Amino acid sequence: MSSVQFPDSVAHLIQYDQSLIPHVWLGIGGPARYFAEPSSRQELIELVRVAHGLGIQPRVLGGGSNLLVRESGVDGLVISLTAAELGQLSVSGDRLTAGGGAKLSHVVTHAVGAGLSGLESLLGIPGTVGGALVGNAAAVGRDIGSVTSKVEILSPDGQVRWIGNEEAQFSHRRSNLGGQVILSATFQLQPSDVAALTKRMQKMWIVRNAVYPQGRSRIALPFVDPDGATAQRLIADIGLSGISEGGASLSPERQGVLVVNDRATSDDCLKLIERIREQVLLQTGVDLQTNLQIW
Ligand SMILES: Cc1cc2nc3c(=O)[nH]c(=O)nc-3n(C[C@H](O)[C@H](O)[C@H](O)COP(=O)(O)OP(=O)(O)OC[C@H]3O[C@@H](n4cnc5c(N)ncnc54)[C@H](O)[C@@H]3O)c2cc1C
Repeated sequence: MSSVQFPDSVAHLIQYDQSLIPHVWLGIGGPARYFAEPSSRQELIELVRVAHGLGIQPRVLGGGSNLLVRESGVDGLVISLTAAELGQLSVSGDRLTAGGGAKLSHVVTHAVGAGLSGLESLLGIPGTVGGALVGNAAAVGRDIGSVTSKVEILSPDGQVRWIGNEEAQFSHRRSNLGGQVILSATFQLQPSDVAALTKRMQKMWIVRNAVYPQGRSRIALPFVDPDGATAQRLIADIGLSGISEGGASLSPERQGVLVVNDRATSDDCLKLIERIREQVLLQTGVDLQTNLQIW
């Protein structure tokens, strides 16, 4: 991409050749040519509108827990939604509305504190509301799409509109919300007893902590569980325990989890993912789909 001159209305927001390493869980990969953290909704809308006019398709960064950035980085604009204004929460009756940048864990605890049930199984999934909606995040058999009544999106040309659940097309770890900016979403929940709900949430938290490797933050879940099986089971069954490529390997504690060490590169991760997919396809006939978004 040839160098772009941003107009005064957004020029102060743009950082050049910004490393994405601190922003992604795997902590590897190249820089973003242009990077911005708008501090308000108005700034975000203006930035997207300007980018559209300049022919740049922005990418949105949520919590970075489902992203693998190539060594070559992103030759474009990455927008991070960390500003408080982009993560606000409000409750009205049995509905909770959350900004796209809100941390999913805050949304879950806020709902439980308000005596609203429906989101608690998602406790412990890292990342933001926007990231969860794009990938229809799920846990314990419950996906975020099943409680989403509407989503407020900012289209690439800067138009804001609400779409209903059907238009978002939630399916198994998928939606059609990618490529737009999720500004907020409204969840339809069930009134419930706060004490009972809190207890249920705490139990789920304990179970979840036992499942994921402790003390590691440079990890990712590379694969979507296929119908009627788990990626973890398939991988273990064909003896891929401990498989590694350079500094990337599968966690010895939990086979479906990708772990990287200090020497790892994004290339190592991509090669490892491809080797696992090939082996699983060859030995089981299952074509594992990747969950991780590759930038
Ligand atoms: C330890 C661990 C455990 C996990 N457990 C689960 C689990 O139980 N269930 C599960 O489903 N997933 C799980 N994941 C995967 C991951 O946490 C989820 O996919 C999460 O929802 C990603 O959210 P994020 O904000 O980090 O997205 P990011 O990684 O920042 O982005 C992912 C994608 O969403 C897009 N995006 C993010 N925000 C927005 C927005 N506001 N508007 C438009 N697009 C946006 C990005 O552009 C990108 O394409 C786990 C990951 C880890 C590391």
